[in-house]
Amino acid sequence: MIDQIKGLHHVTSLASDAQQNNGFFTQVLGLRRIKKTVNFDRPEVYHLYYGDAVGTPGAVMTYFPIPDIKRARAGTGEVGTTVFAVPEESLPYWQDRLEGLGVEGLTEAVRFGERRLGFRGPDGDGFALVEQAGDSRKPWEGSDIPGDCAIRGFHSATLRLGAPEAMAELLSFMGFEQTESEGSNQRFRLAAGNGADIVDVSSMPGAEPAVEGAGSVHHIAFAVDNRQQQLEVREALVDTGYSVTPVIDRDYFWAIYFRTPGGVLFEVATAEPGFDRDEDRAHLGEALKLPDQHAHLREQLERDLPPITD
Ligand code: ZN
Repeated sequence: MIDQIKGLHHVTSLASDAQQNNGFFTQVLGLRRIKKTVNFDRPEVYHLYYGDAVGTPGAVMTYFPIPDIKRARAGTGEVGTTVFAVPEESLPYWQDRLEGLGVEGLTEAVRFGERRLGFRGPDGDGFALVEQAGDSRKPWEGSDIPGDCAIRGFHSATLRLGAPEAMAELLSFMGFEQTESEGSNQRFRLAAGNGADIVDVSSMPGAEPAVEGAGSVHHIAFAVDNRQQQLEVREALVDTGYSVTPVIDRDYFWAIYFRTPGGVLFEVATAEPGFDRDEDRAHLGEALKLPDQHAHLREQLERDLPPITD
C-alpha cells in the first residue's frame, strides 16, 4: 500500500461549447476560471480550468470543449457523478439557485447518510452537491454566491463499474479504506486527505460500457504533493503490474496516467508548481496561456479558437 495520495486533484471532462461551459462553471456554480489554455496533446482545443481562488488540488474541474462532439452515452468504465462539497444547510439555497437558472436534472437524495442534490451540466454531465460538515477549505469569493453556501471543492467522485472487485483492490492499494456499503454502492475514503477524500464505486453488472463524448469525464486525477512522491507512486504501480505513462509536464503540475481495471483513466498529479506559475494570482485564467511547445501557434489559435466572453 502507498501513502502518498492526498485525495482528488482534478476531474477532466468533455464539453461541446466553450462559452456555454465557461458560463455554467463561473456564473451558475460560482467557481473561478483559473486557467485558459489548450489541450497540450491537441492544441486546437481549449483546456479550461475552474476551481477555487488558486486552483487548489481537490477543487479543480477542467474541460476540453470540442465543437461538434457527440453527446456521451452513460455506462460502465467511467466516472458517473462528480460531486462538489458545500457547507451544511446550504442545499436549499442551491436548489433555488439551480432551479431559477434552469439547470436540468435536479434530484434530491440521501446517500451514506448525506443529503445530496443531483443536477446535470450543459452536456448532460452527472453532478451532485453534498453538504460536507467540517470542511475548512476556502471557497472562491469572487462570485455572487454567499460564502456560507459556495462550493469548497470536490466531495467525491462515483465510478461506475461492471465488476468492482479489482477497483476495490486498487483503491486500497492507493491508501483508501472501504468504510461503508449501501445497496450497489461502496464508499472508499482516505483517512487524512485534502478534503476531496472519497471515491464511491457503483456496481452495475451487465450494464453497457460508456461511450465517451460531450458530458462525460475523460479522466480523474489524484493528488500527490511533489515529484518525488509521484515517482514513488509510479514505481509502486509499475511493480504491481500497471502500465503507467512516463512523467509528463503539464506546466501547472506533472502528470502520470494509467488505465484501471474496468476502464476508468486515472492520473496522479503533483501540487507543484501550481496555476500561478505563469500568471499573477489576481489575473488567473484571463489570458490565453500556451505551453512552450505550442507558443509558435499563438496567432493561429487566437484566430481559430472560439471567443469566450465572461
Ligand atoms: Zn488531468
